[in-house]
Amino acid sequence: MATEVKHLHVTYNDIHNLIRYSTPKIATEFNPDLLVAIGGGGFFPARVMRTFLREITEHKALQIQAIGLSLYEPVEGTSANVVGHEVIRTQWLGPDSGKLLLGKRNLIVDEVDDTRKTLHYALSELQKDVEAELLTRPESEHAALREATKFGIFVVHNKNKGKLADLPADTPYFAGATVEDVWLDYPWEAMDIEAHDGHAAADKTL
Ligand code: 5GP
Repeated sequence: MATEVKHLHVTYNDIHNLIRYSTPKIATEFNPDLLVAIGGGGFFPARVMRTFLREITEHKALQIQAIGLSLYEPVEGTSANVVGHEVIRTQWLGPDSGKLLLGKRNLIVDEVDDTRKTLHYALSELQKDVEAELLTRPESEHAALREATKFGIFVVHNKNKGKLADLPADTPYFAGATVEDVWLDYPWEAMDIEAHDGHAAADKTL
């Protein structure tokens, strides 16, 4: 039987505010021009971040692209989930992925960095798409296009734990909050949002 892990419930407002306080730094230090949300947990954070980026940069609303990746399989009889062995693509950017990313400052957005496997996979696969797109361009343009293409990462929560994958040291990385190695219960997974918010309030008193 799997051991029960400690849970921490987070509310929509908690997430909204973590994004609110993180976005000025992201706008200054990375200034994305495309958001790549990892679904499903990255969808709501990316949409909220767009609101704050628009306000801060006074630019038009950024495009949000979506990819779907899965690592965790629910295990019957447990309230938490267990780690799967590999990252599975459930949705990607389409045949023009590299074209879409090339020359842009692409911010990958997810809700949580746990083992880091998902972020590592997303980043390395998106970079491969960029490299494939470069092969269709004259070699004389490669250096400038590579230089113009950047990837950054934003997660609402980073778990302070040993990671199973590394990200390149020069990849800008932003986390709304760093938490212990607990299981985070997100509001979009709740059936009863009032009960969820009640648990979140109780968690805050611990
Ligand atoms: P990683 O690849 O970093 O281990 O895991 C990333 C994915 O695992 C997240 O996008 C999320 O779907 C899932 N995950 C990891 N930890 C948690 C957690 O504490 N709560 C929830 N709800 N999902 C998690």
